[in-house]
Amino acid sequence: MNINPRLQTNQKNNKANNLYILTEPLNTSNKLIIDIKDIMDFCFCSRYYDYKYDGTNNNKINFKELYDISLHKTFYMYLRALQKDKLENTLELLKYTWGKEWIKFKKTKEIMLMNSYYKVNKSSYVVDTYEERRKKGIDAIFNFNEVMAKDKQFPIIIGHKYEIEILPNIILTGNIEYVREYTDQNNNKSIQLMKFISEPTKRYTGDMVYKYSLDLIASSYALKTLFNVEDFQSIAFTVSDKKVYPNIFSDKEYNILKDTVKNVVTCIQNDIRYISPDNKCMFCEYKDICTKNL
Ligand code: SF4
Repeated sequence: MNINPRLQTNQKNNKANNLYILTEPLNTSNKLIIDIKDIMDFCFCSRYYDYKYDGTNNNKINFKELYDISLHKTFYMYLRALQKDKLENTLELLKYTWGKEWIKFKKTKEIMLMNSYYKVNKSSYVVDTYEERRKKGIDAIFNFNEVMAKDKQFPIIIGHKYEIEILPNIILTGNIEYVREYTDQNNNKSIQLMKFISEPTKRYTGDMVYKYSLDLIASSYALKTLFNVEDFQSIAFTVSDKKVYPNIFSDKEYNILKDTVKNVVTCIQNDIRYISPDNKCMFCEYKDICTKNL
């Protein structure tokens, strides 16, 4: 049986999470831990999930993932400055942080590797070079600043990791991106949970996608369950086109999430995979490796 290292019991991995300040520590021995990103990757394509977490795949660069992580770190820095009321020279701060995040972990050799990967693998779906991503990131931070700066808000939670026993013996982990108190033009206050999407969903965009976005549903469930917040909006914000998609989730979406987690865990534990090459492959970081092995 193929036990993926990402799906593990947490006997060795029970590091304290600051959620424990608010909840009783779980007796987590022999429970499975799985991250919502793993669930989403598996739902996108089970082969994609395997390639992404295959330790022998070290030379393969997942541009999207790197870009997403670097951009999110920049957004969180902005929000922390906002929380401390220290947002002077906002755009300069954002641009500086983005440059630092995108460049810092890459050595010249890695940049060359990224660019040569692009030349070799460029096809109908454009895999951006390192430099193109850098420029795209600057556009993204301008968009982010434009949308965030116009709303009156007070940050409550920024980039908070959660662990929640979503089903008996299954712990789901993930990240609550941003929770804010929002004041509208009529001075009405509300609580909003936001998720920042650096690039549109792999296959489709639009209301339907974000209405059932699993990681947004999962972080909403975590906010409701761990912090006892009942009345809030869950918003997907696609930074590349400045669109916001508001949702209010209920038990219906939370039950969909639980069913999906249960079924994905069952597939991974029992080594159940499927092969379904179709138009999603155009958006797949591993299509060059995968298609050679079909
Ligand atoms: S190329 Fe298609 S079938 Fe292969 S891993 Fe990517 S999405 Fe899945």
